[in-house]
Amino acid sequence: MSARFSVRTLQLLCFLAGTAYLFLGEWSWKSLVGMLIAYTFIFVLGVAIGLHRGLSHRLVDPDSKLGWLTLGFGTLSSLGRPVEWALVHRMHHPNSDQESDPHSPIQQGFWKVLLNLWHLPESSKPRLSLIRDLMTARSVQFYQKYYYAVIAGYVVLLAAAFGLPGVIFGYCWPAVMSVLGASMVNAVCHRDGEAKDSLWVSLLTFGEGIHGRHHREPKTVNLSHGVYFDPSGWLLAKWTQAQEEGEVSWALRQRKQK
Ligand SMILES: [Zn+2]
Ligand SMILES: [Zn+2]
Repeated sequence: MSARFSVRTLQLLCFLAGTAYLFLGEWSWKSLVGMLIAYTFIFVLGVAIGLHRGLSHRLVDPDSKLGWLTLGFGTLSSLGRPVEWALVHRMHHPNSDQESDPHSPIQQGFWKVLLNLWHLPESSKPRLSLIRDLMTARSVQFYQKYYYAVIAGYVVLLAAAFGLPGVIFGYCWPAVMSVLGASMVNAVCHRDGEAKDSLWVSLLTFGEGIHGRHHREPKTVNLSHGVYFDPSGWLLAKWTQAQEEGEVSWALRQRKQK
């Protein structure tokens, strides 16, 4: 799993650089606002819609314009290459909270999962058949191959426009927050050995914390119910509806179900 190792090294570097800058660098409230905006875009478009619901649950055609855009933001989240991330998530759903769940807090410990330090259990067998549908998507091939180049390009753009603070608050912290946000769903929402909704996790992760309902209905786009609001699902449902009504042509939902 050397690919995972390098991604985790990158995540650690982001955390160390971000923390060092908070103590040694100059920053303002404006930088924090910029960081929250970057986190919102990267998490909603990249993690919740791009990697999770769009790619792993096939709710967005990866080769539509929306697929390309959201997988681009997913790359900036630095959670891992799209195929590896979708594979782990597709292994998680049918085996959740069991021994072969890749990241169960009951099996591996709450903190290990929260800090994204889990390891694939022996009984967990990655199978090519789980991700075969992704291998032919051009966008997926592109982001697999140019994963670090896309991140480097974004970092260079931020550095050119805003200097070092731009890199720290536009990339490093939003990436760390995205990794922690996704890990929070895995750790907190599975803490009791079953998938549950968590209001505060869903607030911090733009609806991803409505995880009990998501496990029961993985194909439901908008998971909002009662006091729970799912902004990511709401947005994706709006785009899907606009596509189905012929108003836009870029948010194509994949018809092919395997
Ligand atoms: Zn899922
Ligand atoms: Zn889960």
